[in-house]
Amino acid sequence: MRTKKMPWFEFAPNTYEIDEFDCVSVFLFVGTERALLLDTGTGVGDIRGLVEDLTDKPYDVVLTHAHMDHVGGAGWFDEVYMNQKDCGLYPFPPALEQRRSYAQMISRREHKYYAYHVEEDICEWPKTPVIKPLTDGQVFDLGGRTLTFYECAGHTPGEMVAIDDQNRILFCGDACNNHLIFRTAPGDANFVSTEEAGKNLERIWNMRDRYDVMMNSHHDYRAVGGPLSPTVMPNAIQCCKDLVAGTANIMELENPMKKMPGQEPTMTAASLDGISWVLFNPDGIRSLNPEK
Ligand SMILES: [Zn+2]
Repeated sequence: MRTKKMPWFEFAPNTYEIDEFDCVSVFLFVGTERALLLDTGTGVGDIRGLVEDLTDKPYDVVLTHAHMDHVGGAGWFDEVYMNQKDCGLYPFPPALEQRRSYAQMISRREHKYYAYHVEEDICEWPKTPVIKPLTDGQVFDLGGRTLTFYECAGHTPGEMVAIDDQNRILFCGDACNNHLIFRTAPGDANFVSTEEAGKNLERIWNMRDRYDVMMNSHHDYRAVGGPLSPTVMPNAIQCCKDLVAGTANIMELENPMKKMPGQEPTMTAASLDGISWVLFNPDGIRSLNPEK
């Protein structure tokens, strides 16, 4: 573990976006009493050391969902909060080779040099952290500011978003972005229909008297420290409705992860504007239980 050279940006007072070498964005919130780390990245380099350079407050580690590019650094912490609905659906710890090949795929995509070494800085977890439950409505009081978490199943069954009351920002993990991935089908252990995902997004959209802007956990469609375009979430909600109604504008897109094991070369997607996309599984559009 030799590097702490991850770029970071204090984009609002005591609120940091840590850019894990374009793999993912990790956020750190510091209050008067405590701090909170949102996600741990793919686990490239010394995320714990960087956090403890940025704050001397005691802190909690909260995971938006169980994908490896968000939980990959969790093994350097004693305990993490995560929605139980994601537990058991994704490898924990994630496979080392998956973490390394994901970082290498990002590096190839960005054509950049990064100040880390794949073998030395992406390594096995020293321990497996205890998972503490994270539920809808859970509040973390950091002293003078709070983060409140809400379920938003779609990208994963246990995907969580958070509202930062100090900055009036919604942190939406992978629940909303320009390249929104809802690709499960009935029979998959992690199945969430596109219909249900859209309704869950709409619930969060309807809370916007409490936030002005949103930030997702990848910065490839926004600036580091800058918000996601305000059209992305309403467009995604409308795309989900159009898919259910059979009226969506559908295209085949190149799969940006196509070089990862088990990935197909293209993905089926719906879009209103040709800028933001909902990637879906044609077999997984409708809810099995329409009452849900
Ligand atoms: Zn994800």
